[in-house]
Amino acid sequence: AKLIVTIDGPAGVGKSTMAKRLARELGIPYLDTGAMFRAVAWKLGEGSWDWDETRLKDELAGFDFTLSGVGEDSVLSLNGTPIGNEIRTEQVGMWASNVATLPVVRAYLKTAQQSLGARFSLVAEGRDMGTVIFPDAPHKFFLDASVEERANRRFHQLEGLGKPADLEELKEQIARRDHQDRNRAVAPLRPADDAVTIDTTELDKDRVFALLAEHAGE
Ligand code: C5P
Repeated sequence: AKLIVTIDGPAGVGKSTMAKRLARELGIPYLDTGAMFRAVAWKLGEGSWDWDETRLKDELAGFDFTLSGVGEDSVLSLNGTPIGNEIRTEQVGMWASNVATLPVVRAYLKTAQQSLGARFSLVAEGRDMGTVIFPDAPHKFFLDASVEERANRRFHQLEGLGKPADLEELKEQIARRDHQDRNRAVAPLRPADDAVTIDTTELDKDRVFALLAEHAGE
């Protein structure tokens, strides 16, 4: 049987960093489901969230996500092309959050995510991994942190990617995106009832990772 570990939480909390590291430790792939929403938004383009359902369904029918590799070397591809850093901007993040409110997009990605989970053991990170996509996962985590701390972390991440951002602006963008993600009608961001919630505001990466590894108990 496949092992699924879920990590959910708001933007910039460090889910990807922890998911990669835990996946490496477990020798399995990690699945960045935010990248799937970002890639869909990026491909469909600005304004696609206002399209009618038929048009969206037609476009989505042409999408195929595949996964290869293990740990931080996991590669998520869309139609055979690895998803790159072009999706790593707050603007594409907001577009992703916009398309993520649409039931037709969520239904499509739910099927794609669950079929990857049927083929591979996964550390799956996103917003609804523990609540909707993998409700039976044996290990579920919800990471949280203050918006100031998360803006800081995202600031450094973008800097590392050669995409410097304005800290105050980032803070506003993240707060706006969180608000939309927490308040949407379908699959709103919230911890699963059986998730271990960790407030990481005051914790360094090694400490957070130690808590995850302890609970996921190899
Ligand atoms: O995690 P990331 O910031 O890359 O996600 C981008 C957006 O995709 C989120 O703000 C959220 O609206 C959406 N998302 C989602 N469900 C997931 C993962 C991401 O709705 N499982």
